[in-house]
Amino acid sequence: MNIRPFAFTLVSIVVLGGLGYSGWLYFAQLEHQTCRACSRPIHDHSRTVASINGKPGYYCCPTCALTEHKQAGKPVQITQATDYLGGAALVPSESYIVRNSDVNPCTRHEAALTPDKHPMHPHFDRCSPSMLAFREMKTAQAFVAEHGGQVLRFTELAAQFQR
Ligand SMILES: [Zn+2]
Repeated sequence: MNIRPFAFTLVSIVVLGGLGYSGWLYFAQLEHQTCRACSRPIHDHSRTVASINGKPGYYCCPTCALTEHKQAGKPVQITQATDYLGGAALVPSESYIVRNSDVNPCTRHEAALTPDKHPMHPHFDRCSPSMLAFREMKTAQAFVAEHGGQVLRFTELAAQFQR
C-alpha cells in the first residue's frame, strides 16, 4: 500500500490550515488597530468601542464613532471609551468628553499632501472636532484650561448625535 499521497495530503492540510489561521490572526489584530470608520491607526489613549446594529467595532476616537451615525444612518452606541490621561477603559455614561481642544491624536501625524505637495487643509475631517474622554470632570477641566475646548458629559454629547 502506498501511503505517500495520503501523507502528502495530510501535510498540505496542516500547512494550509496553519497559514489560514495566522492570516485570520493577522486580520483580527489589524481590526483592533485600525479605525473602522477612517482606517487610521488607533491611538491607545483615544480608543473607542462602539456597536452599530449590535455589531461591535473599534474606532480611533469618539468623533469617528459618533459621526458613523450620520454616515451609516444607523444608531450607534459607544460601549467603551478610553481615559486620555491614564489610558484606562472607561464606561462612557460615567465619563466626560473634552470637545474641540487643540489636541487631536488622530490628526497629529497626518501628512496629507495635495498633488503639488502642499499640506492640505481639509474642511471636513472625520476625526474633527477632537473629542477626548476623561474619567474625572476635574482633570477634563484642567485639560481645557491648557488646551481649550469644552467639557461635556458623555451622555449629553451622545444625545446630540442620536438625532
Ligand atoms: Zn477614525
